[in-house]
Amino acid sequence: DVAIHEDIDFNGMMLSQNTLSGLLKSGFRKPSPIQLKAIPIGKCGFDMVVQAKSGTGKTAVFTVLALEMINVENPSLQVLVLAPTREIAVQIQQVFCSLGRPIKGLNVKTFIGGFPVADDLTNLIGCHIAVGAPGRVKFLIEKGYMKTTGINLFVLDEADKLMESSFQQDINFIFGTLPEEKQTLAFSATYPDELDKFLCSYMRYPMHVSPGHEGPVLRGIKQFVSIVPPHISSMMQMKIKLKEVVRILSSVDFKQCLIFTNYQTRAQSICYQLNQYGWPALWVAGSLSQQERLDAVNSLREFRCRVLLSTDLTARGIDAENVNLLINLDIPFDSATYLHRIGRAGRYGSHGIAIAIVSDGDDLKKFQELLGSIGGKEMSVLRFPSDPVPNMW
Ligand code: ADP
Ligand code: MG
Repeated sequence: DVAIHEDIDFNGMMLSQNTLSGLLKSGFRKPSPIQLKAIPIGKCGFDMVVQAKSGTGKTAVFTVLALEMINVENPSLQVLVLAPTREIAVQIQQVFCSLGRPIKGLNVKTFIGGFPVADDLTNLIGCHIAVGAPGRVKFLIEKGYMKTTGINLFVLDEADKLMESSFQQDINFIFGTLPEEKQTLAFSATYPDELDKFLCSYMRYPMHVSPGHEGPVLRGIKQFVSIVPPHISSMMQMKIKLKEVVRILSSVDFKQCLIFTNYQTRAQSICYQLNQYGWPALWVAGSLSQQERLDAVNSLREFRCRVLLSTDLTARGIDAENVNLLINLDIPFDSATYLHRIGRAGRYGSHGIAIAIVSDGDDLKKFQELLGSIGGKEMSVLRFPSDPVPNMW
């Protein structure tokens, strides 16, 4: 998915000398597939909805487009990038600084909550590109501190997250202050249908750009569904599922395993039972203290724990490179969550196995519906307890 086209490099994309040298100095020698496709369309001035899997280089798409269009001689704000979290905003600003290093006088700043507004006022002076979280940006515009009349590029990163109701009012307000004549770009890995309606109200004839006809699942992840017999009582059902977990853990040659469940109490109780079976597992959920949460996640990251049970608290963003086995003990509530969960295994082109343990009957039907929306063609079926558990390779 991050495969590089051998014969095409950034030189063929009609970029300025500064951008080319910024890309090279950042170690970007060849464009990723989404960069190859979206940068030329964006350069034509189209509004775009860009969808590509996580880790495939979406940030550089809008960074390059922004760097290509700004005029550093003009001290007014020309590009506004919104992101849902402080951490992402800071990360984006770093990419701008890295790719934009050859551009003399380039001024890129972040505007996020948790820091004094007084700093923002200083940072706004001569700022060409603002990267921010919706709340703070709205505040600065409302107070008249941030001038939006010169903005000609508006970017929504993690657009599916920004679409959530908690951000909508802020984004509507911000959008309402932007000039008519501008380009709007939205980026996301998952793309719910409602996002389309929301985004299209901000865009003019947007182009939908994705890297190809492949499905939304990372190529390195093999997906399985293990169908277990149903039981009337949910406690007995969990006993059956637990048996299957133990069977999987005992027979798959994995490095680290993440097990997702929909319930905090279940994470804790399955963890306890796994420990009884001799599997030293940990669990993490929102009911733990912040420190306990960090400790559990760090144990996974630092390879001190092989099996972690979790709620969707860690479905997005956790980057533990040795996780190559992913078990869904409960079916997630929506397909986006399923994709984010299994995306925890197989980071940056590495390989992993994702197994959903599903009860025959209604549960299975629900899972099939969920897969229908993302095309579950690559799924292999295991019948418990007769089918052998898959091997890593
Ligand atoms: P996304 O936003 O699609 O999840 P990012 O933009 O964060 O992905 O990029 C993921 C990683 O890939 C980053 O560490 C980035 O530096 C790297 N990367 C992106 N494009 C290239 C490229 N053309 N060549 C080499 N590395 C790249
Ligand atoms: Mg990104």
